[in-house]
Amino acid sequence: MPYNKEVYSTLYYKEPGPKLDKESPFESMMERFRFSAEILKLEDGMFNYLSNPVKQVTVSIPVEMDNGRLEVFEGYRVIHTNILGPSKGGLRFAPDVNIDEVKALASWMTWKCAVVNVPFGGAKGGIRCNPRELSARELERITRRFTASMLEVFGPDLDIPAPDMGTNEHTMAWIMDTYSMHARKTVTPVVTGKPPIIGGSLGRREATGRGVVTVTLAAMNKLGISPINAKVVIQGFGNVGSISAKLMYEQGARIVGISDISGGYYNPDGIDIPSAIEYSAGNRNSLEGFTGADTVTNEELLELDCDVLIPAAKEDQISRKNAHKIKARIISEGANGPVTANADSLLEDMGVLVIPDILANAGGVTVSYFEWVQDRQGYFWTEERVNRRLNRMMRQAFQLVYDVKEQYNVTLRQAAYIYAIKKVSETLKLRGIYA
Ligand code: GLU
Repeated sequence: MPYNKEVYSTLYYKEPGPKLDKESPFESMMERFRFSAEILKLEDGMFNYLSNPVKQVTVSIPVEMDNGRLEVFEGYRVIHTNILGPSKGGLRFAPDVNIDEVKALASWMTWKCAVVNVPFGGAKGGIRCNPRELSARELERITRRFTASMLEVFGPDLDIPAPDMGTNEHTMAWIMDTYSMHARKTVTPVVTGKPPIIGGSLGRREATGRGVVTVTLAAMNKLGISPINAKVVIQGFGNVGSISAKLMYEQGARIVGISDISGGYYNPDGIDIPSAIEYSAGNRNSLEGFTGADTVTNEELLELDCDVLIPAAKEDQISRKNAHKIKARIISEGANGPVTANADSLLEDMGVLVIPDILANAGGVTVSYFEWVQDRQGYFWTEERVNRRLNRMMRQAFQLVYDVKEQYNVTLRQAAYIYAIKKVSETLKLRGIYA
């Protein structure tokens, strides 16, 4: 059924009544999309087109476990659009992943690619499983069987997965190998975020965190906040959080709070980030027992006194429940969807500058694009070149979005959506609808 703007708006947003504290990520995405689409006076047909994914695939993944038992996992791939080019987006392994979440994340990829001007559409995938409880051999079998089910979906010119929560370089290597075995040749550009030795790009692993820091520094510059001694809190100490922490630390910022699944860590004098990274790496990727800071809860961490807050863990962390307690002047969304749509206006009223996920964490897909280009050319860049081009593209994207914000007098998030929706809808108009 086509997505009807009026019905949707009435159901969720125009009716008075209590707003949900926990929104579905898809609702959050639609709320932002609808708002910017209205500013752009997007026609209903175009609105409906861009509200519905072009393809949604759900597969069962039967896998023989190490103990000999057969288990069946559910896997998804949603292609939201392929208007700007082949669809692009990560693959998430998590126990609670579901099609609604994957749909939202796929749409975000469309807008994210448009914002940073990479020639890709948006997609996302997921497998409902707990990677922490699976052996490496089990994960490999799940990944390979899923890839085999997606042979018609994936492809260097069709749809290109990448890592996301619960997946990593190794997962990408298995996808590349499985796809290549069926193609009877090595096809490196079918997936990005691979280990550099098999066609991955130097700098890809750090790219999301590096991009977060580039745009955060640009935003601080706009507000006249010097990075030297600026107080920064970072939620999440995975790939995005730890690299953001490291690079902000190198800029002279005082990282007063960090966290991971084991809890929050606070030190008003600043945490020694290199030793926190070393500690976590030597402690099975956990900060549990880290002594360079006092422990705080996750809720307390978000409410700490700071200039910049970087939520780099997961969705739905800042909602109407806690947004009024936020003290940061800038929130830079390292994760996808850490602020719910119903918290947006509160933060706006409080004067918090939110750098939206589709801009803040777009460094990952930007270097994925570089990886795809390098694989197709068979010519590999130095890390220095990757980082230089990444910084340039992120700075340009920030400025473009900032200009739209000024032009329309909207938030940075609304500006990013306006820029992205405009680009995608104008491209679609030029391409036209094939009958
Ligand atoms: N999963 C990452 C994201 O959400 C990267 C996607 C990609 O590189 O294709 O942006």
